[in-house]
Amino acid sequence: MRLRNIKGSREVIGASDYVVHEEETKAGKWHEIFGNDHPIHIEVGMGKGQFIMALAKRHPENNYVGIEKYSSVLLRALEKMEREEEPLPNLVFIRMDAENIEKVFEEGEVDRIYLNFSDPWPKDRHAKRRLTSTTFFGRYNKILKKDGLVEFKTDNRPLFEFSLESVKEAGWNLVAHTFDLHHHETMNEGNIMTEYEEKFSSQGNPICKLIANR
Ligand code: SAM
Repeated sequence: MRLRNIKGSREVIGASDYVVHEEETKAGKWHEIFGNDHPIHIEVGMGKGQFIMALAKRHPENNYVGIEKYSSVLLRALEKMEREEEPLPNLVFIRMDAENIEKVFEEGEVDRIYLNFSDPWPKDRHAKRRLTSTTFFGRYNKILKKDGLVEFKTDNRPLFEFSLESVKEAGWNLVAHTFDLHHHETMNEGNIMTEYEEKFSSQGNPICKLIANR
């Protein structure tokens, strides 16, 4: 998702209390930032934030960090946050490229990583940019707690099959997977739909999901 560049989005983001700035100085300090020792869950490529906002509302016992590369997209999430009646003290955002994620979280600081409808990067020469490549699993390996989980959803079957292979190649365990989440009794329980999930499932596309750990 890359929205048309919106004039002034960088200034709005710069002034927002919901956004953590100078994120590379925050590694090891996330519990201080939230003011508690609750688990840290992150969503990489959160888009306009529908999923992570719903999750943060449902689970006040966790802290959430939404990561998005583009200012124009993050701006939409901030507008959504502003429309909330109650503030969400357990959710913040970072505008960054997840390539640098190891600089932002200390070893083992993150309890769970969500990846939803990540960009497919269909050309082979761009495979390392996929958020479920072994390159990214190597990064997640550093920041994720020992028993932490990665959860990934997509309607893109080739990307899902690539991701199943990556889990194996990276030496991780496949805890669970399905090629049709919305018809899977246990995996669909409590499922929160993302914006893309609503769009693609309404077009009849089955949604794939995997959960991996080490
Ligand atoms: N997760 C949302 C959903 O399911 O509705 C948005 C999906 S959209 C296809 C993918 C999002 O990931 C885009 O907003 C894109 O800007 C963001 N993204 C892609 N690569 C990223 C990266 N390396 N770091 C941070 N965000 C990234």
